[in-house]
Amino acid sequence: MRDVLSWIDDDLQQLRQADLLRTLAVRESPQRGERIVLNGREYANFGSNDYLGIAGTLLTEAHLITAREIGWGAGASPLVTGRGSLHAALEQQLAKFEGTAAALLFPTGYAANSGTIAALMGKDDTIFSDALNHASIIDGCRLSGAKTIVYRHCDVDHLRELLAATKSPGRKLIATDGLFSMDGDLAPLDRIAELAEQHGAMLLVDEAHATGVFGENGRGASEHFGVERAVHIRVGTLSKALGSHGGFVVGEQRLIDFLANRARSYFFSTAGPELVAATGLEALKIVHDQPQRRHELLARAEQLREQFRAQGWPMPERGSQIIPLRIGDPGETMRRAAKLRELGFLVPGIRPPSVPAGQSLLRVSLTWRHDEALLARLAAAVGPKTAS
Ligand SMILES: *Cc1c(COP(=O)(O)O)cnc(C)c1O
Repeated sequence: MRDVLSWIDDDLQQLRQADLLRTLAVRESPQRGERIVLNGREYANFGSNDYLGIAGTLLTEAHLITAREIGWGAGASPLVTGRGSLHAALEQQLAKFEGTAAALLFPTGYAANSGTIAALMGKDDTIFSDALNHASIIDGCRLSGAKTIVYRHCDVDHLRELLAATKSPGRKLIATDGLFSMDGDLAPLDRIAELAEQHGAMLLVDEAHATGVFGENGRGASEHFGVERAVHIRVGTLSKALGSHGGFVVGEQRLIDFLANRARSYFFSTAGPELVAATGLEALKIVHDQPQRRHELLARAEQLREQFRAQGWPMPERGSQIIPLRIGDPGETMRRAAKLRELGFLVPGIRPPSVPAGQSLLRVSLTWRHDEALLARLAAAVGPKTAS
């Protein structure tokens, strides 16, 4: 009999030879921002997006009681019978937190981006997308069938030129991460919002890494730049700083009504368990009640970036709690990651396709639970850039 899957062996072998093969580890501890047990070994954890350090603490006694009352599986699409009162309450609180008319919960942030962009845009339309946007934006662009024009990362002049050169009468959408997931820099949203306005384009900002961390109220990069009103579609996730799970979109009521009818990733997927919505509600309360978490996180991140800069590592201009240590070669990146693991630090090496070819990096992700002494030990373990 022919082995019709043998081509997969070749593909995996190619990945291995290019230093791009991933293997799945088993996490043997609860998700805590600062500490993790992987494959039986304990590390200081610099690979988590649990920026406010709440993922390990969200499930309270109250939730366990709730679980007994509401059970687990939602049973159906939210449009059929899957949306429960806690889902509705979380949507209401999300809209209140974000200062918008309405919110819609998606199964994940990935589904929120891909489904929203595919619903808003069609084959006669044009999307302008930052070169380093998250895969869920890229996949949304592909699914939509719209013409997608990629502008150089955070390059407002390039975006302006491309907008000016586009004569198509169809809809226009500018899509960008607010805070870039691997490079840890903020998009210049003030200037991008101006361009969107001038060119009659819709503006979508993915706040996945900025929600709970940036902005006076923790609403993200749009709030940080003071352009919330100019961002028509704000996408977020409950799975990062909010320590829970699930994606969301916030905006005008008509946008939310439209997405509930048109976003296929919304209604062709079963709603998440209501218990998860209960943890989302608690996370929003923590973000509101404990602003010191985001302030301390960002202050420590700035100190650590300063320290890395002093060790010869180039740092982003508009930096954040995500700190890239740029290496370039994937093999060298993974060797430095392995060396750090030997010293007890889990710092993920990021390779294509998560970053473009030749731009592999170590991604240091900080949480509020990392104290200054631990950060000093990390900086010493990383050492100067030239040591590679
Ligand atoms: C993680 C991430 C998402 C997806 O969110 P999930 O809820 O994990 O699916 C979307 N956009 C960006 C920029 C991300 O980093």
